[in-house]
Amino acid sequence: MVEERKGALEAEELLEDLGFDTLPITPNQVAASIDCDQFRLVLEEKIFTSDGILGKAEGNNKGALIYVNANITDKRRLNFTAAHEIGHVCMHIMQQKKMSFECGAKELYNPYNDPIEKEANGFASGLLMPRRLISANFNGDILGGGAGLDHVAAGALDRGQLVFRVDTLFHLSILQKP
Ligand SMILES: [Zn+2]
Repeated sequence: MVEERKGALEAEELLEDLGFDTLPITPNQVAASIDCDQFRLVLEEKIFTSDGILGKAEGNNKGALIYVNANITDKRRLNFTAAHEIGHVCMHIMQQKKMSFECGAKELYNPYNDPIEKEANGFASGLLMPRRLISANFNGDILGGGAGLDHVAAGALDRGQLVFRVDTLFHLSILQKP
């Protein structure tokens, strides 16, 4: 869980730096906002020959390219995949830790014992469900509003990922209590 939390915090800081303060957060807007002369970032949908790969990211110290599999029909999964790949760009490619990623269902949706994939998943969850904005939406009562959560979830993640996220937030809020 340490890697997920690190990823989520990284994404939330990025959103603050870029000035995103309303939900829903869309990966395309985040990517466009990261893109600058010093670091070019392109995010595109593309039909992959293999359905096993959902997203790819590759780059160097000057920029990165993200491809998301256009065959992903569920918009929330498409967004999660794009956000996961943005995580690889911000946490791994920009830091020169690893320069090329091909991510499938194993990396994205199942517990997978690779810290780098866990960081990217944490990042995706923090990017689409930033604690600051979620808390604001629910007046700090993150576990109180079932209907509200469904509303947010429709724009971002599926219910399972949302429960994971709320669970993470809940534990974080417990840890932060004096
Ligand atoms: Zn990945």
